[in-house]
Amino acid sequence: MKSFAAATAQLRRRLGANVVLTDDTARTAASYDSAKLPFRPEAVVRVTQEAQIGAVLALANRHGVPVTTRGRGTTLTGAATPVQGGWVLDTLALNTIAIDDEAGMAHVQAGAKVADIQRAAEAKGWFYPPDPSSKEYCTIGGNIACNAGGMHGGKYGVTRDFVIALRGYLPTGEAVTWGTATKKFSAGFNLRDLWIGSEGMLGVVTGAVLKLIPQPAARWTLLTSFKDETAALRAALALFKLRVQPAICEFLDRESVLCAERATGRAVFAGQAGRPVLLLEFAGGKAEVRETKQIVLGWAAEHATGSRAAKNREEAEQLWAVRRKCSGAMFELGDAKLNEDIVVPMRNYVKFAQFLAKLKRDSGLAIPTFGHLADGNLHVNIMYHKAVPAECRTAERTVRTLMETVVALGGAISGEHGIGLAKTPFLRIQHSPAQVRAMQAVKRALDPNGVLNPGKMFEPFEVWKHPRLEVKLPWDHK
Ligand SMILES: Cc1cc2nc3c(=O)[nH]c(=O)nc-3n(C[C@H](O)[C@H](O)[C@H](O)COP(=O)(O)OP(=O)(O)OC[C@H]3O[C@@H](n4cnc5c(N)ncnc54)[C@H](O)[C@@H]3O)c2cc1C
Repeated sequence: MKSFAAATAQLRRRLGANVVLTDDTARTAASYDSAKLPFRPEAVVRVTQEAQIGAVLALANRHGVPVTTRGRGTTLTGAATPVQGGWVLDTLALNTIAIDDEAGMAHVQAGAKVADIQRAAEAKGWFYPPDPSSKEYCTIGGNIACNAGGMHGGKYGVTRDFVIALRGYLPTGEAVTWGTATKKFSAGFNLRDLWIGSEGMLGVVTGAVLKLIPQPAARWTLLTSFKDETAALRAALALFKLRVQPAICEFLDRESVLCAERATGRAVFAGQAGRPVLLLEFAGGKAEVRETKQIVLGWAAEHATGSRAAKNREEAEQLWAVRRKCSGAMFELGDAKLNEDIVVPMRNYVKFAQFLAKLKRDSGLAIPTFGHLADGNLHVNIMYHKAVPAECRTAERTVRTLMETVVALGGAISGEHGIGLAKTPFLRIQHSPAQVRAMQAVKRALDPNGVLNPGKMFEPFEVWKHPRLEVKLPWDHK
């Protein structure tokens, strides 16, 4: 890996040794994210003021130093890993949150934690719906860069739907703002939306204005179980046809239910053991939720093998807690996981369920699947054992078949995690050569020296050839 010692020394003189860290501990901590593919940076720049970012990027362009912006490093794709070394730009200290109570907006800095933004909004009766399961750790800058979603996506939308304006730095180090704190803005190209989901490759976000909505007055949670996975997906489609819109509609297949129950030691799905479930939440005005309840109970009586409503918020929280344990709980089925977040159009839910059942049979691997049915974003987890070469090869083949099939069904290879390093081998299944060239042209136009998050998205990265770290991260229990 290339050394940039002279540029690093110059940056250190300019910003100070407490901002530009070159010690082993800091460099190791910034060398990987949740994908656990380690590449060491030469320095970690722990910025304390937004303006320092302009200085970092200007110097990086002069010396050709790769710069990787980092929020909390929870990305599951390797997007925050400094694969070409250089400098990691740590944004965690930029974390102010201010609620504009009249306008219903949150003014936040990039390093603010998403759950803190939600709590600050809730304290004033406002609601910020995007809710990745990692919200107690991840930053709003990371959410904007990945266009993060979560369980509320189907009804309320994802991060993109709540970003009103952005400010930050172009890869060349020039300060920019995209939009203002107004609900309408139609002046010029919309580069705000180009930044959202650009995985830290087209600019560095330092601050954002977010849209808030009023907190719903009532919520109602219902657990329903079904004869098999296909029946559960058919039932979800029947529910959507009734024009009742769940705030959350989570699907868990049989394997996911069993893993989550064993991991928590709680039989919260009691009476439905061994059956796939839909976990539903309805939210809105009190009268609206009361009316919806009657319709939904009728639907459950017709389609479900069992159902149980949470008696209060505490009981509802217990159900959601089990759902959040799903991902980590799967490691009882294998010590390695390909954690995919594909999207399937609703019209092809049943075809997908049939394909998945066949994929499980053909591969012989455990593939527990759960996810957000109101927007078709399913987490397909291909479990295998690292020490068994035949299983590794099967997992590699299986993930490719999965990606090819979701695209053939009109879906997407990622709904919320993005491409990073881990999904680069599949980008061209989703996008034609002309589409990839257009994206690369945008990258070149904004980042002529290729300093910002290089080596991601376009260059196929063979995850299989790289050793993964054996570390447990604070959020791995989730
Ligand atoms: C247990 C667990 C559960 C998860 N659940 C969900 C989920 O439900 N939904 C979901 O969408 N994702 C989920 N994720 C993935 C991850 O949390 C999100 O992608 C999140 O948005 C990453 O935020 P971060 O602060 O950790 O960013 P990082 O991981 O540090 O960075 C992610 C990307 O954003 C870029 N970036 C970070 N900050 C900035 C900035 N200020 N400006 C420009 N680019 C920046 C980085 O360069 C990198 O490319 C989950 C992850 C884990 C570990």
